[in-house]
Amino acid sequence: MLFFRRRLVGAIALSLCLFAMTTISNSGNEGEASAIEPSGLRPVYPAEYDCSPITSEYASWIDVDGTRRDEIHSGVDAGRLGEWVIAPGPGTVRAVWRANWKWGSEGALMIRHDRQDLNLSNGPQFYYSEFDHLDFNEIKHFKPGDRIERGQRLARVTRPGENESYLPEVHWEVWKADHDKLTWRENRYGAPDWWNDSAELVDPLSMLALQNPPADGKSVLITPFDPGSDYSGFRGFTYIIACKRK
Ligand SMILES: [Zn+2]
Repeated sequence: MLFFRRRLVGAIALSLCLFAMTTISNSGNEGEASAIEPSGLRPVYPAEYDCSPITSEYASWIDVDGTRRDEIHSGVDAGRLGEWVIAPGPGTVRAVWRANWKWGSEGALMIRHDRQDLNLSNGPQFYYSEFDHLDFNEIKHFKPGDRIERGQRLARVTRPGENESYLPEVHWEVWKADHDKLTWRENRYGAPDWWNDSAELVDPLSMLALQNPPADGKSVLITPFDPGSDYSGFRGFTYIIACKRK
């Protein structure tokens, strides 16, 4: 349900960046929308588990309630009210803040996964998992630098802006980045928003496809986190909602 942070390439001075971003914020999102391309990936749920489904996919124009979005979707939405959101891979808390993406004040949590955390031998050095629509009080104990384990409970699914009039969901957005330098600005709703000039959005499903690449190139098996499994050589992400074995 979030807007997309336009990526500006090249050695543009920060002041110019901020000026440009302000201009973009004030002028709508037409250019931003075109930057998010559907990946063609779709989730397939494991037969032996009951997994709370993804309710809105990456690059979708349809929201969880079936209505058309104002902006193309920058991540995936998932979860039922009260379900635990769990870490999709090992990493480090990068930021925790009180955000506002238009639906009201809420919690946001960003985890940085180094390439080595995910057992990837090449590609970008960093990946970010950003979780939005969380209850800030549930995440405020996290501090930047805290180590996060795969499957660790992060927060429970709640409503955007902690507002009863919205359907429950967690928004999960994944970025790849060549460096880890973040700058912060105030977004159009008066809340902090980060910026990394090397960061690019990816479909979270693409990170779930790394361990078991789909035979048809599209059907990504949702891999539940299993506390009893050995993940020392596992590539990429497991699912962000705990699944129950049937
Ligand atoms: Zn969303």
